[in-house]
Amino acid sequence: MPSSRAAVRALDFLVQKHEICAPFHFDVKESTVGVPKKRTSSQKRDQRRAANSRYEAANVVSCQKCREPILPHTVCSNCGTYKKRAILATAEE
Ligand SMILES: [Zn+2]
Repeated sequence: MPSSRAAVRALDFLVQKHEICAPFHFDVKESTVGVPKKRTSSQKRDQRRAANSRYEAANVVSCQKCREPILPHTVCSNCGTYKKRAILATAEE
């Protein structure tokens, strides 16, 4: 692929004269590769990387039977129930 505009113009000329085939011609103007204008500062770079590694507090709900705080969609470890239904055998029974 040609690197300079002069090389493109030379290839254009040869294509028009049918010296070479058209697929060898490459137009620089159609290139749409994004090129950063400024170097990203270390602060902005670190802010971007830190956004994916933040810890968030776990969602806690209370058991419907004994009101003990539990994780949602889990069997209560205190009374052994899930949605008020006995799932696990506990010492009380
Ligand atoms: Zn419970």
